[in-house]
Amino acid sequence: MPVPPVYLDYNATAPVRPEVIARMQEIWAAPMNPSSVHAAGREAKKHLENARKSIADSISAWPNEIMFTASGTEANITALRGIAGKRLLVSAIEHSSVLKARTDAQMIAVDDKGTIDVAALDALLKDGTPALVSVMLANNETGVIQPVREVAEICKKHGALLHCDAVQGLGKMPVDFGVLGVDMMTLSAHKCGGPLGAAALIARRDLAVAPLLTGGGQELGRRAGTENLAAIVGFAAGVELSADRAHILQIRHWLAFIESEAEAIGGVVFGKSAPRLPNTTCVAMPGVSNEVQLMDFDLKGYAVSAGSACSSGRIEGSHVLNAMGVEKSLVASAIRISAGWATTQRDITTFTEIWRATSQRLKKN
Ligand code: PLP
Repeated sequence: MPVPPVYLDYNATAPVRPEVIARMQEIWAAPMNPSSVHAAGREAKKHLENARKSIADSISAWPNEIMFTASGTEANITALRGIAGKRLLVSAIEHSSVLKARTDAQMIAVDDKGTIDVAALDALLKDGTPALVSVMLANNETGVIQPVREVAEICKKHGALLHCDAVQGLGKMPVDFGVLGVDMMTLSAHKCGGPLGAAALIARRDLAVAPLLTGGGQELGRRAGTENLAAIVGFAAGVELSADRAHILQIRHWLAFIESEAEAIGGVVFGKSAPRLPNTTCVAMPGVSNEVQLMDFDLKGYAVSAGSACSSGRIEGSHVLNAMGVEKSLVASAIRISAGWATTQRDITTFTEIWRATSQRLKKN
């Protein structure tokens, strides 16, 4: 199926960059299992370790701190289930893979701007019970950037471990394992122009994370299964290409068109007063349900999203906006626009015109 004429759903998945596809095709051309001892296997191992080093260098980690997985979901679950004997605290706006990793997780509240309540975290950690905390770098729905360094300091003060889901930050803001001061971090290739099927859990070298998948000794025994080499090479290429953020920074100015349009007609921009990713805006068109909006935009050739789409394609109410205390009718009329490497200014100005026309027409009905 061709990519829709105007694709504004990069936070769900970004189109794969052509340079990434070219590099992956070179790998696919030969049989390559990095665990094989023959020449083809050694060649595969070289590609695997080059990709690992390139990603490690870009985030100030050591190559042996990077464990490749098949998805961000797998990396999140490995991090949160792989550390035994600690209570788990997660922010209320995390991705469902974090929220559902363990049934006994305690929630950390967020404020009405969509930012984690650090004082609440501090209070929760005060009793000194060994804890593991998970706080995302940037939220997938609102784009709100979380104060992860501050969270890391609080965790350190109380002797708690910190995992950070940085899946949405990759390629859109600086992501530096060392600077963030976290113990574990998740990345996923398909959010930055790399392919589906490759992601990583970065874990401090002295931290023992029990494997989720056991069997072969791949990834230093931390994740069994032959590595998806073409996807991993594509992942490294995606990370490399997204290091230049000039284009993505420009997008914030373009998204201001739609935000001022929304506000001019009584709409709401969520998390607007908090630091946000440059590519994301979440806006409500009061009085028009997001399902109706999405169908209308889809018919006109614009791909955007709302809340999180479940596997049946229906829209579930956003747990992120609910956690921010947003009124129910506004939650039901909120959509997310997320742009990326191939988005043009024209894509956003034409979408803004369509948004305005849709809002005028549907409100009358
Ligand atoms: N974490 C966040 C913040 C996400 O937005 C997503 C995907 O939408 C994931 C984790 C899961 O990543 P993946 O699709 O690679 O499993």
